[in-house]
Parts: sequence; structure tokens; C-alpha cells
Amino acid sequence: MKNRICKICKSQLQGRLDKIFCSVKCKNSYHRKLRKSTAKAVLCTDKILHRNRSILLEVMGPRSTQKIVDRIILDQKKFNYNYETGRFKNDLSRIYHRVYDFSWTDFSEQEVLIIRKR
Ligand SMILES: [Zn+2]
Repeated sequence: MKNRICKICKSQLQGRLDKIFCSVKCKNSYHRKLRKSTAKAVLCTDKILHRNRSILLEVMGPRSTQKIVDRIILDQKKFNYNYETGRFKNDLSRIYHRVYDFSWTDFSEQEVLIIRKR
């Protein structure tokens, strides 16, 4: 039979065959490492996405749910069009780019339509 060892401390595993860790301590340590690595890796992307949302909120104002703005305004605020949290097509096959609770779409050559989900 194959020697079964703990994924973290490499000590011999006892008991159930599907066990991966020798203890709760090793299991927690493993997941802590995963979270730490992910937190570090996503920091840059999260920053850009958060910034994009802030720009959309600032441009829209806190009360409106739909607004057409000049692309230049977003450009000046350094909106990053390449980062989104998702996208969808409406009934007219227009592609909307999601940024959390906001979405934007190319409205014309110089204009962008921003909508906010309530
Ligand atoms: Zn262990």
C-alpha cells in the first residue's frame, strides 16, 4: 500500500483513506497559504476593478440609474476598459460590460451608456 503522508508536515496519516492532512492545524495552515497567495495575486486586478467602479459612480452620481457620457470623461479619469466583472448581451444584441453593479456599453463612437442595477 502507498505511504500516505500529510500534505503540509509530511507526517504519516492515520485513519480514513481520503484524509489529506494529519490535523486541523495542518488543514488550516494549507488553506491560509492558499488564501494568502490568492490575495496577493488578485490585488492588482481588484484595484483596477474597484477604481473602475468608483469612476462610474462618480460620473453617474449617486441617484441616477442610466446616463450617457462622453468617452473622453472616462478616458481622462483613466477608466480601464479592459477590466470587467462580466458581460451580457441585451435583447438588441448590444454587449454590456459589467463592473459589479454597474454596466457600460459603447453607445456611439464618442459616447458610453452607463447603467446601474438597483
Ligand atoms: Zn500535518
